[in-house]
Amino acid sequence: MGKPERMHQIVSLVSKESEPVIVVLSALSGTTNSLVEIGTHIAKGDRNAAKQAIDKLEEHYQAFIADLLKKPATLTKAKNILAEHFEFLNIILKISFSEALSKDILAQGELLSTKLFCTYLEEQGVEHALLPALEFMTIDSYDEPQIGSIKIRLSQLLQHHKDKKFFVTQGYICRNARGEVDNLKRGGSDYSASLIAAAINATVCEIWTDIDGMHNNDPRIVKRTVPVEQLSFDEAAELAYFGAKILHPASIWPAQTYKIPVKLLNTMQPAAKGTLITQDAGSVGVKAVAAKDNIIAIRIKSSRMLLAYGFLRKIFEVFEKYRTPIDMITTSEVAVSLTIDNPVFLKEILKELEPFGTVEVDHNQAIISVVGNEISQTTDMVKKLFGSIMNIPVRMVSYGGSPHNISLLISAEYKTQILQQLNKGMFGLE
Ligand code: ASP
Ligand code: MG
Repeated sequence: MGKPERMHQIVSLVSKESEPVIVVLSALSGTTNSLVEIGTHIAKGDRNAAKQAIDKLEEHYQAFIADLLKKPATLTKAKNILAEHFEFLNIILKISFSEALSKDILAQGELLSTKLFCTYLEEQGVEHALLPALEFMTIDSYDEPQIGSIKIRLSQLLQHHKDKKFFVTQGYICRNARGEVDNLKRGGSDYSASLIAAAINATVCEIWTDIDGMHNNDPRIVKRTVPVEQLSFDEAAELAYFGAKILHPASIWPAQTYKIPVKLLNTMQPAAKGTLITQDAGSVGVKAVAAKDNIIAIRIKSSRMLLAYGFLRKIFEVFEKYRTPIDMITTSEVAVSLTIDNPVFLKEILKELEPFGTVEVDHNQAIISVVGNEISQTTDMVKKLFGSIMNIPVRMVSYGGSPHNISLLISAEYKTQILQQLNKGMFGLE
């Protein structure tokens, strides 16, 4: 959501619906980035830079409301909303920094967007109710959403507004186990929407962005791509982790668990089909290829692995200890290779792996994922896949982990080339 037009558009989209709708809003475009920047300045003790960034953001919002609202009464109301939230940011400047405070800063984006949107609805005379996310969206001490209590609290809130059909709430923000304001990580509004859809057993969860769904390849890298019309949850989960990040990866599980169809739609072309994600894959065959950069590959070679049991467990425990997810894994009788994308604890992890054998690390790797219904079972597909990339050195292959995915690890320097060759080889697109 960048321009006031987006807010106008939401109203016209919602008014076409006969069923009640909950609109989950993210912050205005660029806002969360600015808030991250403000937080970083404050953490570093650079109050001047923080103050400048706050003022710049406020200017942006003043212009936004002047454009959004026409009536003096609602404009005054919006000015008061800005005053309240920017005063809060200015007060924070004077307090000593803490992690909890930085989450409070980040929450301002969604608090502002929803309040301003409701003011716009008021101006338009549209009946609605604001459901404060901080009153129902909760995460536990492992940062996992508590779907059970979200369900209960949200339905209680909805009970208070039985006469309404149009609800607005904040994406991204939530309360943590300590009762503090927290969030569902960057891009988390999709996750909020999916959790809410699951909690109310919605007919559909629509994610509106400015791209017409998931594409068969990365449009930033290859010339021609086509939107994928239908994906199963499993296929979408494989893809969400990669490429253009059009969907927050965690947003798949709530929809999948509660069987809520998800639609990825484009605000620029509201009539376009977009991508439908359901239990059912639609068609057999390859749907998309995607890449993920900044992957680190680790190989642990140990003669003691030969015929031993418990070796993998000990290795995995090291990663678990540092809460670092492993993405790909391949094994031989005496070695195991695996990949991670989070380098924060790399040094500690390598040190703890040392006693298990020789450890080698390769930075700057990329995972290429080929996703499709039952692709690894279709010999023709596998032949086509490897046939089209024979000239590229492959470091790891993951095949058979899921019937819907084949993943390759390559050095990142080959990424563009491999995506182009796969576009031609698998989809016949140049
Ligand atoms: N505003 C948050 C972000 O920029 C959440 C979202 O947009 O989904 O990450
Ligand atoms: Mg997003």
